[in-house]
Amino acid sequence: MTADVLVIGGSVGGLTTVEALRAGGFRGTVQIVGAETHLPYDRPPLSKKVLSGAWEQKRAHLRSQVQLDSLDVEFLLGRRAVGLDVDAHGVVLDDGRRLGYGRLVLATGLTPRTLPGTGSLRGVWSLRTLDDCAGLRAELLSARSLVIVGAGVLGCEIAATARQMGLDVTLIDMSPVPMWRQTGPVIGRALSELHSAQGVRVRMGTGITGLLQERGRVTGVGVDGGAVIPADVVVTTIGSVPAAAWLNDSGLALDDGVLCDERGRAATDVYAVGDVARWSEGRIRVGPRLENRTNAVQQAVFVAGDITGARHDYRQVPYFWTDQYDVRMQVFGLLPEDADVRLIDGTVESRRFVMVAEQDGQVVGVVGWNSAKAVMAAKNTFLG
Ligand SMILES: Cc1cc2nc3c(=O)[nH]c(=O)nc-3n(C[C@H](O)[C@H](O)[C@H](O)COP(=O)(O)OP(=O)(O)OC[C@H]3O[C@@H](n4cnc5c(N)ncnc54)[C@H](O)[C@@H]3O)c2cc1C
Repeated sequence: MTADVLVIGGSVGGLTTVEALRAGGFRGTVQIVGAETHLPYDRPPLSKKVLSGAWEQKRAHLRSQVQLDSLDVEFLLGRRAVGLDVDAHGVVLDDGRRLGYGRLVLATGLTPRTLPGTGSLRGVWSLRTLDDCAGLRAELLSARSLVIVGAGVLGCEIAATARQMGLDVTLIDMSPVPMWRQTGPVIGRALSELHSAQGVRVRMGTGITGLLQERGRVTGVGVDGGAVIPADVVVTTIGSVPAAAWLNDSGLALDDGVLCDERGRAATDVYAVGDVARWSEGRIRVGPRLENRTNAVQQAVFVAGDITGARHDYRQVPYFWTDQYDVRMQVFGLLPEDADVRLIDGTVESRRFVMVAEQDGQVVGVVGWNSAKAVMAAKNTFLG
C-alpha cells in the first residue's frame, strides 16, 4: 500500500502531525507505524504521576479510541521501520512488509543510553516507555533503596517521585549541580538544595566505577574513591540517542539526529519532527536538537502545515517544564552554563521566583519556579 502520508513513530510528534493534517483539511490516506504496542501516550507523566501511582496508566493516553477513530488513520503498532529508500519512496518494516508514501514524517524519538554490560542485570532500569514505567514502579514498591545515575531533568524527576514514595534515594552525577546542562549553576544549586531538603543524597561531582551484583541482580553502585552505595534498584538517566540507526543507509544526513532544513525537510518528501529531529535555524546554522514535548508538538503542527500548503515562518522559543516535589519549573530559551543569571521576581527561599539568563548583555533564557504568570510575562518581554 502507498499512503499519502506515512508517519514513523506513534507518539506525540507523530500523532500531532496527523491531527494537524486533518484539522488543516487534509483528506488523503494516512498510516502511522509505531514500534510500541500501546496507542499513543504521553511521556511526561511517566516520571511523575504514573510512576508514583497517582495516575493509572491509561490516564497517560493522549486520546480516546473514539478520537483516534475520527482521524481516519491506519495504525500499524508493534511494528518497527528498519529501512528507508528515499528514491523509491518506500519504508521496510521488521516483518518484511514494504510501505510506499507520498510524504514521510519521521517521529521516532530517542533511545536511552545504558551502562555497558548491564543489559541483562535485574534491578537496573531506564525510563522511556510505559512498559519501563510499569516495570520500574513494580520494583520500587518493594524496594528500600534507589540509586539514580545521572542528574538531568529525568533523573531529578525520578528522584523526587521515588523520595515521595518513601524510598531512600541517592542521585549521582559527574556534574557540579543537578540539571547542569539544562539550567546551569545558579538554578542547579537551588535544585540541589531542594532535593537535599527532601532527604535525597545528592552526590554531584561523582563518577561511578561500576555496578555490583549478586546472582544476576544489582546490589549497589561503586563510586570514585572506592565507596559502594547499596541499591535495591538502579535507574540510569545518562542521556539518550536519536532513534535513527535504522536510517544509516538511507542517504539522509544524520548528525545527532536527522538533519533538516528550517522547514523540517530532511529530503524530498521526507520530514522529521520531535526528539529525533535537528532543524536548521535560518539557512545556514544547524540548531540544537531539542528534547521536549512542546517542541515535538510545534514542529509537528508546522510540518503538517507545510504538507497542506499553509506557509508561515517557523520561529519558536525553546520551552520545557519539569515538576519536582511542589515545584513546577518552566524554562524558556536557553540557560548556558556561562550566562549571567539574575533574579527579577520573588525569592529562591520561597520557591517562587523568576530569573533571567544573559549573555553579552542579551537575555537568552528565562526560568520560573512556581511562577506561571510572571515567567510568561518575562518570556514575552525578553524573548518575544
Ligand atoms: C519519562 C519522561 C518524562 C518527560 N517529561 C517531560 C516534561 O516534563 N516536560 C517536557 O517538555 N518533556 C518531557 N519529556 C520529553 C517528551 O516526552 C518528549 O520530548 C516527547 O515524547 C517527544 O516526542 P516524539 O514524538 O518526538 O518522540 P517519542 O515520544 O519518543 O516517540 C517516538 C515513538 O517512535 C517509536 N519508534 C522509534 N523507532 C521506531 C521505528 N524504527 N519504527 C517505528 N516506531 C519507532 C518509539 O517506540 C516511540 O513510541 C519526558 C520524556 C520522558 C521519557
